[in-house]
Amino acid sequence: MAVENIPYKVFYRRIKYPRLEFTTGELRFILPLNSNREEVFNRHKRWIEKKWIFVQGCLKESKKKKLTQRTDDDFKKLVLYFLSEAASQQGLKPHKVYFRPMKTKWASLSTRKNLTINKLARYLPDYLIEYIIFHELAHFKQKRHNEFFWEIISHKYKKYQELERDLFTYWFRVTNKE
Ligand SMILES: [Zn+2]
Repeated sequence: MAVENIPYKVFYRRIKYPRLEFTTGELRFILPLNSNREEVFNRHKRWIEKKWIFVQGCLKESKKKKLTQRTDDDFKKLVLYFLSEAASQQGLKPHKVYFRPMKTKWASLSTRKNLTINKLARYLPDYLIEYIIFHELAHFKQKRHNEFFWEIISHKYKKYQELERDLFTYWFRVTNKE
């Protein structure tokens, strides 16, 4: 699909680098304030195209995914269990853990080293919850998704790319469940 035909919306935010976000089927191109939309778009053409094709594939697959049913309580217990495992594997742990609804990600780690888990993750299969927690803890050592970061991840998850894809796919499934 040619990039000109991809439906997208442009937003400007106080950020340093352009960013792509996907809500259900909608591509959002987030640009730093004062940037030239056309110029940035042309420069990132291939990246946008690749991402679009990837997302369309995930969207299609998402329809076949089954949601796991758990109580909030069971979900919290499971998270704390995987957290203690990942903490001992990586030799570090967050100060606090919060459970909140989040709109754009499964989890995040604050600069104060508090971990927030998206409440919607309770619909995910165990192996993805375990992966999310390991992934977030690795951000203690490296904030960005660079080579060094993926090296830490691959100590435990050789096929992390598949897991990242699964997470994307489930994202569409979970946010589309109504
Ligand atoms: Zn990450």
